[in-house]
Amino acid sequence: MKAVMFFMSILAGTLAGASDLSAESRSAKVEGAPALVVVRTYNYAAVSAERLAAAKSEAGQIFTRAGISLEWISCRVPGADDGAACTEPLLAGRELMLRLVDRTPATGERIVALGESMVDREQRGGVLMTVDLCPVRAVAGRTSTSLPTLLGRAVAHEIGHLLLGSTAHPRAGLMRALWSHDELRGLKPADWGFSAREAERMRQTTVRAVAYVASARHAASTTPVAP
Ligand SMILES: [Zn+2]
Repeated sequence: MKAVMFFMSILAGTLAGASDLSAESRSAKVEGAPALVVVRTYNYAAVSAERLAAAKSEAGQIFTRAGISLEWISCRVPGADDGAACTEPLLAGRELMLRLVDRTPATGERIVALGESMVDREQRGGVLMTVDLCPVRAVAGRTSTSLPTLLGRAVAHEIGHLLLGSTAHPRAGLMRALWSHDELRGLKPADWGFSAREAERMRQTTVRAVAYVASARHAASTTPVAP
């Protein structure tokens, strides 16, 4: 049976969290909605607006079922004149970066990687994920499935790695390592969702990020300042 697989990189060292200043400046926004995750999207693959919207909708529905709302920010990429500058530091566990690239030609391999996430094992988190449209397009074509649907699922899987802070793959559900062609063609909702345990862990990640912001702001407001 042919299958597709996700591949993820492990980034050694520490991924930077938000500085106190940036955390402070955004605390009012994040405190009000603890189960919100913001995804800065860099569309290097030039996915059409219509397909991208459908993929975001697919990923959004998967996370809605896990009790988390996704918010998307389109960030400017070279050669494009629209999109936000996206220069502020990221708050790990709350704000993530998605790079959509189109770079790996199909090789006829039995197992192909659709995306990767950079997860810090010590910090149990990360902010950067990449999904490659080239294999996504090939697999969607081979399985006669909708490209936006597959793309949305691939993005949701990578967001899952970052919010779970883990590169582990359970045997079932969206976070499993292998997606067979039969599963991709099928309509089993359980194949494309998070477990209750995963959903709870991801919600805790967003709550911890909000707590971090709150404590940073508190420290900033109570620390004496030398004249
Ligand atoms: Zn994975």
